[in-house]
Amino acid sequence: MRRIGVFGGSFSPVHRGHLKLAREAASRLGLDRVIFVPTARTPLKDPRRLLPAELRVRLLREALKARKDFRVSRIEIERGGTSYTVDTLTELKRRSGAAVVLYLLCGADALARFGRWKSPERILRLARVVAFSRPGSRLPSDRRFIRLPMGALDISSTRVRRQLRRGAVDRRLVPSGVARLLARGAAHRRKKRS
Ligand code: ATP
Ligand code: MG
Repeated sequence: MRRIGVFGGSFSPVHRGHLKLAREAASRLGLDRVIFVPTARTPLKDPRRLLPAELRVRLLREALKARKDFRVSRIEIERGGTSYTVDTLTELKRRSGAAVVLYLLCGADALARFGRWKSPERILRLARVVAFSRPGSRLPSDRRFIRLPMGALDISSTRVRRQLRRGAVDRRLVPSGVARLLARGAAHRRKKRS
């Protein structure tokens, strides 16, 4: 059986906290691959506050390039509209066949409202749902989840975006290649404005 991690999020932008979760998942669950799936749009976030989808994908590629087992999927961006995890898992399962076990990787905050997601029961049939620690949230007590406590980093994309609006992004928050691309984009926007 191949084990594949599916890690969804807006990744606006990807940061070191995401990468730590993916590394822990790969080693502790023995995953053959982790697929990062950036959302098109979600009911939870105002799309105007997100970086453009193409930029989010580019930053992910940059952040993941050293890990052959970490990939980016455009499945939700190409599907367009509102992204639902159940649709993505259904499609990934269909593509990968019966010899694959999917692990849905989630930070604790993301699972807090799992009961209100679209088709939670079907999600649980399609994948093993894994909850990782995140500062500020408790690991959910739901026994249907695999719970993996970890020393999570106190980083969010919101904080990275805030820094970006003020100038440069701290390399403790994002990998240096990502910081470089973000700085280039910011300089470009400043030039356009002036
Ligand atoms: P935003 O501030 O825009 O919500 P975010 O940092 O929460 O961004 P998301 O793209 O919303 O990042 O999250 C994608 C997934 O990664 C979610 O499951 C979330 O819980 C998890 N995650 C994000 N940051 C961390 C972190 N520092 N530690 C553990 N899990 C994290
Ligand atoms: Mg978030």
